[in-house]
Amino acid sequence: MNPVSFTDRETLWKDMLGGAAADWDVIVIGGGITGAGILREAVRLGYRSLLIEQRDFAWGSSSRSSKMVHGGLRYLAAGQFSLTRHALQEREKLIREAPRLVQRLGYYFPLYRGQWPPRLAAGALFWLYDRLAGIRDHRRVGNAELARQFNGLDTDGLNGAFYYTDAVTDDARLTLRVLQESVRQGASLRNYTRANRLLREQGRVCGLLAEDLESGQQATLRARVVINATGAWADRLGNAALAGMKIRPQRGSHLVVSADRFPVSSAIFLLHPADGRRLFVYPWEGRTVIGTTDIRHGRDLDTAASMTAAELRYLLAAAERLFPGDPPKPADVISSWS
Ligand SMILES: Cc1cc2nc3c(=O)[nH]c(=O)nc-3n(C[C@H](O)[C@H](O)[C@H](O)COP(=O)(O)OP(=O)(O)OC[C@H]3O[C@@H](n4cnc5c(N)ncnc54)[C@H](O)[C@@H]3O)c2cc1C
Repeated sequence: MNPVSFTDRETLWKDMLGGAAADWDVIVIGGGITGAGILREAVRLGYRSLLIEQRDFAWGSSSRSSKMVHGGLRYLAAGQFSLTRHALQEREKLIREAPRLVQRLGYYFPLYRGQWPPRLAAGALFWLYDRLAGIRDHRRVGNAELARQFNGLDTDGLNGAFYYTDAVTDDARLTLRVLQESVRQGASLRNYTRANRLLREQGRVCGLLAEDLESGQQATLRARVVINATGAWADRLGNAALAGMKIRPQRGSHLVVSADRFPVSSAIFLLHPADGRRLFVYPWEGRTVIGTTDIRHGRDLDTAASMTAAELRYLLAAAERLFPGDPPKPADVISSWS
């Protein structure tokens, strides 16, 4: 078992500077869900493994997603069967193994008259989605059930819906859980520690220069394998695998509305009246969430992403389309994340 752990970051830093924690089998850069998953796998395989994160763990997209643990209806519709099957099997495994963290959620997929997908195609899609997951939750529902489930829903133009299930989580908690499991198995990790530069020997990456962002001190760390799991920041480290490529960050914003004001007990898809994009309204942590936008994030990546007033208007307009009688208003918005 590795002597340094989650709880003693000061000792770990001293050992990094002093040399006792300067050599690793695997160093993972980036403390989001990708880095956490890689760390857990590396330590499970018996490698002496370290993860460093420049902010707090899950500071990036891994705390700002839509929180869905899904197989990906979109992938299935695009014919990516094995990817969808794999994601669905992982979803089922997570629901079984982490029931308090990953919970099944009912979704309603409304069918609009004259719009894609037609009823038969949608039925086949949901049948296959369930089958690949090894469950049988989907069913067709009429407008009356939709109106009962969603108070104030405008069913005009609707031809019922398909009900099916996926799952929802707290993405940041899920990341922390995977990190904690890694630590329990002997991995080390340190937040507020940034990889400033990759070190190379004979053209191969052999380590990195890490900076403790509290003190500004730098330590040279060496590793047999360095893994860049920095998500939207991935092209900053001079990664040879990304040579000539540039990451173009996208932003998706979500609104949080009081459930007293706008209650939903299941998720429902809606079509945005302006551009026909599909969005969701769904329950999360006792609140109602409306999301998401999908726009180019042209801002500084080192500042936490946030929603603009235009995105707020866009999301509220989508809710108004589905719930025209008494839609949520700006004053009903408790919070947002992007
Ligand atoms: C709007 C939106 C909604 C989404 N919804 C879903 C969903 O519902 N379900 C789903 O499964 N997926 C969803 N996704 C995708 C999912 O969020 C991402 O695939 C996932 O979070 C990516 O994780 P990551 O670890 O690769 O990146 P991140 O979580 O961004 O982690 C990268 C980390 O690297 C750190 N870092 C960067 N540079 C350095 C450095 N030099 N040194 C140290 N650390 C560094 C960053 O601070 C960051 O914490 C969504 C994505 C978006 C944008």
